[in-house]
Amino acid sequence: MLTQAPRGTRDVLPTESYRWQYLEKKMREAAALAGYREARTPVFEHTELFLRGVGDTTDIVQKEMYTFKDKGDRSITLKPEGTAGAVRLFLESNLYAGALPCKLYYLNAPIFRYENPQSGRLREHHQFGLECFGASGATADAELIILAYHLLESLGIRNLKVKINSIGCPNCRPVYHRTLKDYLADRFDGLCDTCKERFDRNPLRVLDCKEKKCRELTKDAPSMLDLLCDECRDHFAALQECLKSSGIPFEVDSRIVRGLDYYTKTVFELITATKDGELTVCGGGRYDHLIEQVGGPDLPAVGFGMGLERVLMLLDSEGVTIPEPPQYDIFVTYMGTHRMAAFDAVQRLRAEGLKADMDHCGRSLKAQFKYANKTGARYTGVIGDEEAETGSIKIKDMETGAETTVPTSEAAEMIRKAVWGGN
Ligand code: ATP
Ligand code: MG
Repeated sequence: MLTQAPRGTRDVLPTESYRWQYLEKKMREAAALAGYREARTPVFEHTELFLRGVGDTTDIVQKEMYTFKDKGDRSITLKPEGTAGAVRLFLESNLYAGALPCKLYYLNAPIFRYENPQSGRLREHHQFGLECFGASGATADAELIILAYHLLESLGIRNLKVKINSIGCPNCRPVYHRTLKDYLADRFDGLCDTCKERFDRNPLRVLDCKEKKCRELTKDAPSMLDLLCDECRDHFAALQECLKSSGIPFEVDSRIVRGLDYYTKTVFELITATKDGELTVCGGGRYDHLIEQVGGPDLPAVGFGMGLERVLMLLDSEGVTIPEPPQYDIFVTYMGTHRMAAFDAVQRLRAEGLKADMDHCGRSLKAQFKYANKTGARYTGVIGDEEAETGSIKIKDMETGAETTVPTSEAAEMIRKAVWGGN
């Protein structure tokens, strides 16, 4: 137990964190290009926020939340998604009184769901999410979908499918609910147990069930798209016009309904095929009544969430390699008693912006060399009697084998020139 992480969690090792950092950088750049700025919210919130914000008929609230009482007897929940916290921040800090839309993103937000751990499904995962508060136009929906698509494409993910749908609004959805329920009622006995429960609570979710028998049964289910009100239909048409104009491929799929109650009009998913079947890497949509539902003004909103672990999984399965930065530019070895000379040289190299290190374990020179090699440092420095005396350092290029001795004060400059062309 002591040396085993809880089920459904994953460590990021020092040897792999560069992959996360690479993703994070790309994500920040993509968000910034469209005017989204970062916001950070706490890992936990009052449980009430999610009951209200996520909806108590959802799988998340019904089955998946990490909820506990703190020592002050408050009910606390670890974030099961990012939107509710972002809405809470938006309201608490009166951002709605400023210029709208308010565009924000969160990165690497830990998300907790008590799920059955399996490939691509963790109990703690991390999301990159964007939220656009106060924009009603379909251009806002479109820019999010396009941003997600281009981001994943630029990372090297191929065969991306963009699926969009409209699930209507409180004007038109009740009619659809009834139509769908009539359809499902005739097939009720064939549904899986979870869907039998969903039938009353949230019949739309039956369309999203991953069980084969439910998928079969709902193959010819009526489509929301046939029952949209004029406003929702216009919005959906405008969204498609934007997507067509952008040139990204997309398909309309009336089975995309998403797991959260708060969606209105647009819902979308970005999906790829993997060896274990289809994997949704990004999901989002419009939620025009959530802000009001959480106690704020009547403002429309749209957003998405993208799972970082799933993006990394896809990069692996598509064989995309992420450039690994070396741990060190230079590893300084020393002979005999010249430990302080090496120490001073390392401090100086670091001060000049190079990744540098030395032995901290009392190794012999030979062992220091072996270790330097293991770290993958491009250069190895040697400080022997002569170098110590003259304040210099012998630098060996581990790629070419070339050696030069330079004053320690010039070593950084020399390596910078060699590695980065002097920048
Ligand atoms: P799914 O249908 O796969 O359960 P979801 O509809 O619950 O997904 P969202 O709530 O929309 O997912 O979350 C957005 C994204 O977060 C997903 O597209 C996925 O990339 C990622 N994600 C969701 N749940 C998990 C999980 N348990 N483990 C890892 N990533 C996840
Ligand atoms: Mg889920």
